[in-house]
Amino acid sequence: MAAAGAIRQQDESGEIVVVGEEAHPFYQRRKLISFLVGEIPEAHLFSAAENEVQPRQLHLRRISHRRVTSLAWREHEIELSTGERLSYDRLLLATGAQSARIDVPGARLSRVLKLDNLNDARTLIRAAKKAHVVVLEGGGISALQLAEGLRSLHLQVHYLLSEDRLLKNVLDRAESQIILQRLAAMGICIHPYSRLAEITGRGGHATGVLTTAGETIACDLVVSAGRVLPRAELARSAGLFTNRGILVDENLQTSAEDVFAAGDVTEIYDPAFGKSLLDTLWWAARAQGTTAGQNMAGQNTPYQKPLSFSHTVLAGLQATIIGATGRGTDANLRGITWGESETWRQLSNAFPVRDDQGDNHLRVTVGQKTLIGAVLLGDQSLAQPLYSLISEQAFLPTALRDRLIRGDISRVRSLLEFWSSWKQQHTVHPATTRMWVGSMIQ
Ligand SMILES: Cc1cc2nc3c(=O)[nH]c(=O)nc-3n(C[C@H](O)[C@H](O)[C@H](O)COP(=O)(O)OP(=O)(O)OC[C@H]3O[C@@H](n4cnc5c(N)ncnc54)[C@H](O)[C@@H]3O)c2cc1C
Repeated sequence: MAAAGAIRQQDESGEIVVVGEEAHPFYQRRKLISFLVGEIPEAHLFSAAENEVQPRQLHLRRISHRRVTSLAWREHEIELSTGERLSYDRLLLATGAQSARIDVPGARLSRVLKLDNLNDARTLIRAAKKAHVVVLEGGGISALQLAEGLRSLHLQVHYLLSEDRLLKNVLDRAESQIILQRLAAMGICIHPYSRLAEITGRGGHATGVLTTAGETIACDLVVSAGRVLPRAELARSAGLFTNRGILVDENLQTSAEDVFAAGDVTEIYDPAFGKSLLDTLWWAARAQGTTAGQNMAGQNTPYQKPLSFSHTVLAGLQATIIGATGRGTDANLRGITWGESETWRQLSNAFPVRDDQGDNHLRVTVGQKTLIGAVLLGDQSLAQPLYSLISEQAFLPTALRDRLIRGDISRVRSLLEFWSSWKQQHTVHPATTRMWVGSMIQ
């Protein structure tokens, strides 16, 4: 939709055709968990946020419930599951990502579910109504939100964690502990160092699990919310350059002429870290869609990777993650989950400094000359200032850097003072403000 919106701004009459395998019109996939737990009605998934393009204004031709089965880029044609062939002048591949298949005995039993799309959410809602005990696996943000959500539906939730902490290399041990304690207080039963080893069943339905820690848990629903993989198979079989996702140049063009790619399916070069990284973030997908659309309509606009961030509620605590907050990649991390950025885990030549007051927790990654990343749990008064300072690469005076590292004066106060003096002398780039404000509109 973002690409279509950008194309329409430059081209009022060209035909735009959107082919999608789902039966539904465009919806806000990132809100599926809110829908699942009854916080929003299904209709809200379809209403674009205030600052988003309204699909009906774009005069699109929509071909729903059809899968694109092959791409012949030399001929500028795609083939649909019906055998119909469509020709194009420019093509955008925005095929997203999907959950990796669970690879344990019993994974094909019914009531073993995942949450990638609206149909999955509807199935999960029906199954949750009849269930009492659910086993959930996955250590990412969406797994954690699902654990909370399923608990709020009065299910007994057994949450399997592959280690003893959450979002390793994004959150530190203390941050993970704050959230795990709150989950336990909600009545969620956490099983550290446990993965699904086998799903047992009766009459074709899941009735229990065996974990890698040797525990047996009786349940009537198993939900897997682990890693997701870019859906690059269409591009791969057409011979486009791919790695984990589709590789694109700075204009989001693939290795094939007139074929662009955007969103979760792409693996984008991050100049800050010198490697191609994956994101499964709504705002990143939208920004890429806009740039791809501009280039498809004939502009020459390089993609400027926005600062990766997420603002969400984890175990009832407001949480913001901005930029690089980790300590490098980790062999135990087996990929990305929904609503995450690999940027968060990159090793930066930087000091983590913290300021904790009760459940309010601030951690800032202090680089040589700039701030590089931040995690805020609870109090969010520094969230937007830090987003702007990190995104704009505000120069950090040596005295302030030393003060932050020493921590002899409140770090929160030092950062607020820095923000207030910095913004008097600088104008925050409008794109930075748009990105931030956009993310806050639900
Ligand atoms: C449960 C859940 C929670 C999330 N939470 C957050 C969050 O809190 N914050 C956040 O920033 N992001 C979140 N996300 C991620 C966010 O929704 C994605 O980053 C975003 O939707 C990516 O957009 P996209 O256009 O790249 O792909 P998608 O939205 O996945 O759209 C891709 C579409 O292409 C279709 N498709 C794929 N292959 C074909 C084919 N061959 N033929 C036809 N159609 C095809 C798919 O069916 C799908 O409809 C969440 C996602 C999920 C599922």
